Amino acid sequence: MVTSLTAKTPVPTGRWRAENFVAGDPALELANTISNRRDPELAEDRIADPRDLADWARSLSLDAGAAPADRADVRRVRAVREAVHDAFAAIAVGREPPRAAVAALLRAAAEGFESCGAAPPRLHAALAWRAITALAALSRDRVGACPACGWLFLDTSKSGRRRWCAMATCGTAEKVRAFRRRAAGAAP
Ligand SMILES: [Zn+2]
Repeated sequence: MVTSLTAKTPVPTGRWRAENFVAGDPALELANTISNRRDPELAEDRIADPRDLADWARSLSLDAGAAPADRADVRRVRAVREAVHDAFAAIAVGREPPRAAVAALLRAAAEGFESCGAAPPRLHAALAWRAITALAALSRDRVGACPACGWLFLDTSKSGRRRWCAMATCGTAEKVRAFRRRAAGAAP
């Protein structure tokens, strides 16, 4: 088992920022293109249109050889994203990935072969293929989910005790909350 699949350092493009890429694996990064899944009021789908999708793929060097993204690609990539999320969120809590999620990924990946090389693969198929590879190859005990926002990540730390998507955001916010709880509890 490996803890990384040739993940290149992201180069944020367009409106994407470095803090959008904390997962350490492109398949998991896809699940994190919705911010704050655990709070419907804060959740934001950051792949709103083909430009967002194209920039996201370029940020992760996933665009080489892929056909230009259009509206249908946004729909298909969003569907793959939900399957990726369901599969890896289950793994993060020690469960087997749901069969429906794995089946959806296999179906989407197979669509990448239908043109038999006559046309470049659509991005959703390439992403699904990547996710299946990650399902097979990544160390499952290193897949984690941030308890605050639900983002997924691959823990490549030596200790294997990464808890947050990012210390600077969710980690710090939780520390502040814990401090306030303690302060409130200590008040006379
Ligand atoms: Zn988080």
